[in-house]
Amino acid sequence: MTTLILGGGVTGLAAAWHLQQRGEAVEVWEAAPTVGGWMKTLPWEGGHIETGPQGVLWQPGTAVDRLFTAIGLPFKSPGTGARWVGKGGHLIPVPAAPPALLISPLMSLGTKLRMMLEPFVKVRPAEPEEGLSAFIARRLGPGVATDLLPAMVAGILAAPPELLSIDAIPKLRQWEAQGSLFNGIRKSGVSHMVVPEGGMGQLPIKLAEHLPVVRTGLRAERLEALPGRRWRVSGGGEVREPERVVLALPAFEAALLLGPVAPGSAAALGSIPYTSVDLWHSRHAPLPHLKDSFGFLIHPPEGQGYLGSLVPSWMDPQTAPAGVMQLRSFIGGAFGKPADLEAWEGVQTRLRHWVPALSEASAVRHEYAERAIPRPEQGHRARVAAGLEALPTGIDWLSNARFGPGVRDILEGLEAWV
Ligand SMILES: Cc1cc2nc3c(=O)[nH]c(=O)nc-3n(C[C@H](O)[C@H](O)[C@H](O)COP(=O)(O)OP(=O)(O)OC[C@H]3O[C@@H](n4cnc5c(N)ncnc54)[C@H](O)[C@@H]3O)c2cc1C
Repeated sequence: MTTLILGGGVTGLAAAWHLQQRGEAVEVWEAAPTVGGWMKTLPWEGGHIETGPQGVLWQPGTAVDRLFTAIGLPFKSPGTGARWVGKGGHLIPVPAAPPALLISPLMSLGTKLRMMLEPFVKVRPAEPEEGLSAFIARRLGPGVATDLLPAMVAGILAAPPELLSIDAIPKLRQWEAQGSLFNGIRKSGVSHMVVPEGGMGQLPIKLAEHLPVVRTGLRAERLEALPGRRWRVSGGGEVREPERVVLALPAFEAALLLGPVAPGSAAALGSIPYTSVDLWHSRHAPLPHLKDSFGFLIHPPEGQGYLGSLVPSWMDPQTAPAGVMQLRSFIGGAFGKPADLEAWEGVQTRLRHWVPALSEASAVRHEYAERAIPRPEQGHRARVAAGLEALPTGIDWLSNARFGPGVRDILEGLEAWV
């Protein structure tokens, strides 16, 4: 074996798959009993829940498409569902196309007019690193940064955009580099949310099937440098001495292993904060306007810890038995969790504030996603660069904290990396 990959989440497995395609002998170690990391589909009363991603953004001819095709992963798209932002006490539709934006009550007329000027805003060099809110205010105007951005970012990173670096959503800078966001989006085309047949958890399962050695229930505990540019990794009574070790781990886990061999790298990666979030899955009688929609996000100052709810039974009908609407509500994150949102009763009360016609839940399930989402705060670029620069030869670190938060970002980042 030439490369040992630590971490059998989607990052580690997809990295292993790429290396294997290049003819390298790879082995993957995963600490949990099953592969997937946050990408797992768990059975639930005649359907299932996702522990992490609900879907992945797909387009023909992209990294996601190439990987799905190469491993023979069938997938489907629910199409374009309605979506809303909860603001001013009501759910306001988010227009799918720019013309509808002009008559949307989501933003003031001044904000909309300022947005239209985006193609004429000068492109700024990538350095110095800009804040996410400042970037959006500069390109689309302060109204978008304060009225629309917070709910969108809460739906991806469960954190307020004022805290975050532009590197939190790398696509934005990539689009700007093409002249303007409008131009970048136009050139890259429309992405569709897709879900593999059987749920997101099928992606890591299928990847693992294509790999020769994936060990589960095996946590790497120690990393040591050996003479002759080799490494020793040990854990769970097993020892390997590969030429290369890839840490496909959250930054805080990578930092633990790197401490003794690369303290500078460990300190930089260990300083990247992560966000925890509570997820409530619930089943209800279908509501005509909600059942075929993506769901809604709440403007954070109004949500006060309730970030919004998605409709997984629309994204993937196998999620729930026929005639049942399944919701997934997001609580807390970097906004904190008020006491009333500790229990389902409080979550349901908040849900009904926005969707008064919602029936009493027929089934409820709670999951706590601890330190599940990286929080690329301002200064993130320097932390990642310092972490990577101080890595010894033969060690690499791959993560959504490096490539971007979504599965699409990871798979695109890995193609460039490999
Ligand atoms: C609630 C939630 C919703 C999300 N929704 C979406 C979405 O809709 N769309 C989207 O594109 N993305 C979404 N994401 C993001 C996406 O799921 C993640 O970016 C991605 O799954 C991260 O994968 P990873 O392999 O980098 O990390 P992880 O999934 O964290 O995998 C790391 C793996 O390393 C293992 N490990 C840790 N330490 C060791 C060790 N010492 N030795 C061996 N193994 C170890 C862990 O057990 C874990 O399996 C969501 C994430 C969450 C949490």
